[in-house]
Amino acid sequence: MRCTILTLFPEMFPAILGSSILGRAAKRGLIVTELVQIRDFATDKHHRVDDSPFGGGPGMVLKPDVLERAVTRVKSEHPGRVIWLSPQGKPFTQEDARRFAAWPHLILVCGHYEGVDERWITQEADEEISLGDYVLTGGELPAMVILDAVARLIPGVLGDAESAVAESFGTGLLDHPHYTRPAHWQPLRGGEARVPPTLLSGDHGAVAAWRRRQALLRTLIRRPDLLQRVAWNRHERRLIEALAKDLEAMENDQDDSRSRETLLHT
Ligand code: SAM
Repeated sequence: MRCTILTLFPEMFPAILGSSILGRAAKRGLIVTELVQIRDFATDKHHRVDDSPFGGGPGMVLKPDVLERAVTRVKSEHPGRVIWLSPQGKPFTQEDARRFAAWPHLILVCGHYEGVDERWITQEADEEISLGDYVLTGGELPAMVILDAVARLIPGVLGDAESAVAESFGTGLLDHPHYTRPAHWQPLRGGEARVPPTLLSGDHGAVAAWRRRQALLRTLIRRPDLLQRVAWNRHERRLIEALAKDLEAMENDQDDSRSRETLLHT
């Protein structure tokens, strides 16, 4: 998979692209990343990439012709789909990461200042993607996040191909909780911190059922909206309904002081 990032600040990327899983994937040729300096496509002698907004007001706006030249050069070498990063775009999800991972060439365009001339978005961007409902100074951090989320879905990038499937959102659910050694850990702040006994039982069937129940419970408590997006089979729907009833009964029981989250570690 190829990813080209158009940016005014290419120096922000090498640490991310060269480290850990992304670094390993690049070395093995599983992903090829190119950083393109937008300023190289300015044609005036001052290399201006922005100008003041028509109609007045603060800030500067990226010029459409400069970005057009940059994207045209990139596409002439490797055709691809253009993502404009913007707080006004569609919020990025795991489903988008899966879609992008299937494309041979992902072109991410990072804005700065007030953004880009609207005409460029209409003419050149295939999609407008946001990282969330907040405003960052530039599109560089969103580009890194998107590339990271996409790259780990490329076959061979993760050591164990299963791990992306079982994770949060991979199955339509949040992931189940994880525990490791020591089995008996005494936190310095006191109290007990036990590993759920099922996980120490050695019974693989019981462990799988516990994990499934925990993933469902966790999703029901923390992100019930996710459950609406999946076509569950009859068995799973019954299980979800039973868990929802348990939760409701617990909440209505005046004598039961347990919080919903307590159920998540039993
Ligand atoms: N004037 C724009 C607005 O209010 O919608 C904000 C511009 S922002 C300061 C500069 C650039 O950072 C944007 O053009 C975009 O590329 C990037 N950016 C900022 N927040 C973002 C977000 N939540 N998701 C994706 N990109 C973002």
